[in-house]
Amino acid sequence: MGKVQVKVAEVDRQFEAVLIANRGEIALRIQRACQELGLKTVTICSEADRDASYGKSSDVFLCIGPSSAGKSYLNQDAILLAARLSGAGAIHPGYGFLSENAAFAEAVKKAGLVFIGPDARSIATMGDKISAKSAMMAAGVPCVPGPDTALPDDRDAVEKTASEIGYPVIIKAAGGGGGRGMRVVTEADSLHEAIALTREEARQAFGSPALYMEKFLQRPRHIEIQVLCDTHGNAVWLGHRDCSMQRRHQKVVEEAPAPGIPPEPIRQVGEACVEACRQIGYHGVGTFEFLYEDGAFYFIEMNTRLQVEHPVTEMTTGLDIVQAQIKVAQGRALDIGQSEIKSDGHSFECRINAEDPATFMPSAGVITALELPNGPGIRVDTHVQTGYKVSPYYDSLIAKLIVHAATRTEAMAKMRDALADIRLDGISTNIPFLRALFEDHEFARGETDIHYLEKWLKQRSAS
Ligand code: ADP
Repeated sequence: MGKVQVKVAEVDRQFEAVLIANRGEIALRIQRACQELGLKTVTICSEADRDASYGKSSDVFLCIGPSSAGKSYLNQDAILLAARLSGAGAIHPGYGFLSENAAFAEAVKKAGLVFIGPDARSIATMGDKISAKSAMMAAGVPCVPGPDTALPDDRDAVEKTASEIGYPVIIKAAGGGGGRGMRVVTEADSLHEAIALTREEARQAFGSPALYMEKFLQRPRHIEIQVLCDTHGNAVWLGHRDCSMQRRHQKVVEEAPAPGIPPEPIRQVGEACVEACRQIGYHGVGTFEFLYEDGAFYFIEMNTRLQVEHPVTEMTTGLDIVQAQIKVAQGRALDIGQSEIKSDGHSFECRINAEDPATFMPSAGVITALELPNGPGIRVDTHVQTGYKVSPYYDSLIAKLIVHAATRTEAMAKMRDALADIRLDGISTNIPFLRALFEDHEFARGETDIHYLEKWLKQRSAS
C-alpha cells in the first residue's frame, strides 16, 4: 500500500477562544482542556441548563435557546451567531448533537471559524456507513462480510445477497447511529419484512432510506482503535478499547486495553487504521470500531469525533486526548510518534446514568446528596453536584467513573470500591446495576462478547 500523504490546505487556524457547542460533563471536560492550553471559553446552553456549574467557570456563558435540543444545541444559526457575538475563533462540538454533522462543519468553516474535528468531507464519508465501508475496504481495513453498496429494491437481488453472505444477516441503515436502525434476520422468510421495517425506520429517524446488509456475527466483541491525526499527514493510534458491555447496542462499561488480544494482530489493525487516515486525509481524533471474533477483526464504523469513552485511553496512555485534538485543530504537528505511545496498566469506565437500575427508564429530578469517590487512580468526569436538577430533555448520562490500576484485576477491584463509595440521592441511577456487574465472575475473567450483558440481565430478572 503506497503512502499518500494528503496535506490539508493551509487556513488560518489560530484562535484564542473556543465556543463549546455541547453540555454536561463533556462541556466541562472541554472547558478544562481549553483553559489548560491558555484558551478562553465560550459555553452555550439551553434554558434548561442556565444554572449549570460549568457556566460559572466559562469566560462567557450564553443561553441560545429553549430546552428542546432542536432549538438550542442543534440550532446551527444560533450557535454561529453566538460565536460571532462572543469573538470565538473555533467551535468544539463535543460528542452527540452536531459533532458528526458535515453541513455544520462546513458552515463553521464558511463563517471563517475553525471546526475542532475533521473536515466536512471526512465526516460525510464516514457518516454514511456504506461509503465508510467502501473507503475502508479500499484502504485495506478488514470489514464484516457483505457488499459495500446500498441494498437494491429488486427482491431477487436482495435474496441472492443474503444467501451469498449466509444467514443470519443484519440489515443496517447507512445513516444509522446510537444503536438504532438495525435488524437481524435469521431466515429467508423474514428478509423482506425486515428490510421494509428498517427502511421506514431509517427514513424517519435518519432522513435517508439507504440500507445495507452484512453478516450478523454471533458472538463478537466490540473492539475499537483510537486515532489522532494532524493536518500535516502524521497519524498515530493510541491503543485499543473493549466496549462489549452493551445494552441495546449502547455501551455501558468500557475498558482499555481490550483483554486477551495478541499484540501482533492488533498492531496490524492499528497500522491499517492509521494508513486509512492518511489515505483519506483525515485529521483530528477518531475511532475505528471493529467486531472481533475467532481472532479476526471486522470494521463496522468510524466515529469522526471525541468519544464518551476517551478517558480510558487517556488513563493508559497518559495523553490528554482533548488537548491533542485542540492542538491539531490549531494546525500544530503531532509532537508524539507511534514508537513513543505506551499502554500502561488497565482502565475501566462506568457510565453513570440517571435511570432506573431495573427498567432503565430515565429518571429526572433533583440530586439531594452527592458524595464522589476519590483516591489514586480514580477519576470522575461530571458536571453535577448536590442540588443539581437532572432535566428530562437530554441523554441520561450524568457522570463517568473511571479507574486506573496496574492490572485488570486490580482495576476491577478499584472500580468495585469506587462504586461502593458513591452516594447519590434524590434520583434513580444505574449504580446498583453497575455494582452487581462488577461482582460478576464471567466479566472478571474478561473477553465476554457483545451479547453477554443482555443475557446476564435476563438471567437476573428471571431469578
Ligand atoms: P451505531 O452507529 O448505531 O453505534 P454500529 O454499527 O456501531 O452502530 O453497531 C453498534 C453495535 O451493534 C455493535 O457494537 C454491535 O454490538 C452491534 N452490531 C453491529 N453490526 C453487527 C454485525 N454485523 N454483527 C453483530 N453485531 C453487530
